[in-house]
Amino acid sequence: MFDTLSDRLTSVLTNLRGKGRLSDADIDATAREIRIALLEADVALPVVRSFIKGVKDRAKGAEVSQALNPAQQVIKIVNEELVIILGGETRRLEFAKTPPTVIMLAGLQGSGKTTLAGKLAKWLAGQGHTPLLVACDLQRPNAVNQLQVVGERAGVPVFAPEPGNGVGDPVEVSRRSIDEARRAQHDIVIVDTAGRLGIDEEMMKQAADIRDAITPDEILFVLDAMIGQDAVNTAEAFRDGVGFSGVVLTKLDGDARGGAALSVREVTGQPIMFASSGEQLADFDVFHPDRMANRILGMGDLLTLIEQAEQAFDQEQAEQAAQKLGTGQLTLEDFLEQMQAVRRMGPLQNLLGMLPGAGQMKEQLANFDEKSLDRIQAIICGMTPAERADPKIINASRRQRIARGSGVAISEINDLVNRFFEARKMMQQMAGGFGFGGGGGSKN
Ligand code: GDP
Repeated sequence: MFDTLSDRLTSVLTNLRGKGRLSDADIDATAREIRIALLEADVALPVVRSFIKGVKDRAKGAEVSQALNPAQQVIKIVNEELVIILGGETRRLEFAKTPPTVIMLAGLQGSGKTTLAGKLAKWLAGQGHTPLLVACDLQRPNAVNQLQVVGERAGVPVFAPEPGNGVGDPVEVSRRSIDEARRAQHDIVIVDTAGRLGIDEEMMKQAADIRDAITPDEILFVLDAMIGQDAVNTAEAFRDGVGFSGVVLTKLDGDARGGAALSVREVTGQPIMFASSGEQLADFDVFHPDRMANRILGMGDLLTLIEQAEQAFDQEQAEQAAQKLGTGQLTLEDFLEQMQAVRRMGPLQNLLGMLPGAGQMKEQLANFDEKSLDRIQAIICGMTPAERADPKIINASRRQRIARGSGVAISEINDLVNRFFEARKMMQQMAGGFGFGGGGGSKN
């Protein structure tokens, strides 16, 4: 996600380190490099200009801070200016005073609207809302079916025209969906509309007609971050043709330059509200300009990580596991539960990528094999409850049985069990050393 831009900016700013004072010439040189980095990342020219001007003016105006050295000051300024072009404050969804809140999605075909509809629905349902998904993309073959599949995965009902009974008018479907939402007491309606491969008058008109029929509380423009320079033109066309109140960036997991997407806020005046970064329903989050700026500047994204952890972990279960860690009573069952909780937060590669300094471990991250976790999970799942509770009883014949059952080599089971004992011992010693947790002596 914005890898190239992130690399470039980090290296420009790293070059400043160690300078005791920054001359105007230093600042000019840095600004020039930042400008090149932004342009190479496809950030739109007017946005680059205003960004550079902001950075230069403030850096030369010497906002002297006692706490920061000159390089840190420039980093801080660049970071704050980046937050500004990304939209400043996080913009939350606005809910209607009288339900249902109507959210309409618009965007080109393939931008990720249908996927996003499912992600948004699942996310809202997770917060206690009762969304209804509405299939108004009657253009693309299979779009209705795709939304139904997504809805099923999200556990959210889908309102769609009955196949074959001639209800082919998306405007009518959208209108009826609002009645249905009132009847079945859905507090949010998410309307998926048809896109085309390019900007097209008929598509715009249809979207505008749907808009007029349902007067949405929010119109979200869904934008594929990988389409490069076209992002700005497309956003302008949708702003003029349909209008929107917020932007969703999709496919941020791609390693494309993505900078054009970063320009949409500045170019259209509408905030980026959500970010979508993968094909799974969980790869979705509120867009926080400050966190994204931190991420681009290689400062990690601990807040997002912490929030995801809060959602994925059952507090009580985590506390119990922590206690067991200290007393050497951790079992493979606990280990499995914790591992599953971590994995609910998304692919481990993404999680590690949010840590500060992740930029420097890019290669290790790229080589990380998520499948090795699948194998560990398969091994533990192949054990009986007694074996998980007390791995000491796993003798040779049990190992053979587990290996057969989970389709792995016996050596992998040996590895896992040995590593588990080692880890448990280490945890116990650490807990003993810090003076908490009972015991101290090894119990294996
Ligand atoms: P629509 O035509 O706008 O409804 O787009 P779809 O939701 O059908 O998405 C088009 C393709 O992009 C599908 O293959 C999706 O799986 C994929 N896709 C959607 N969102 C993302 C994302 O955030 N990351 C990645 N890598 N793929 C995505």
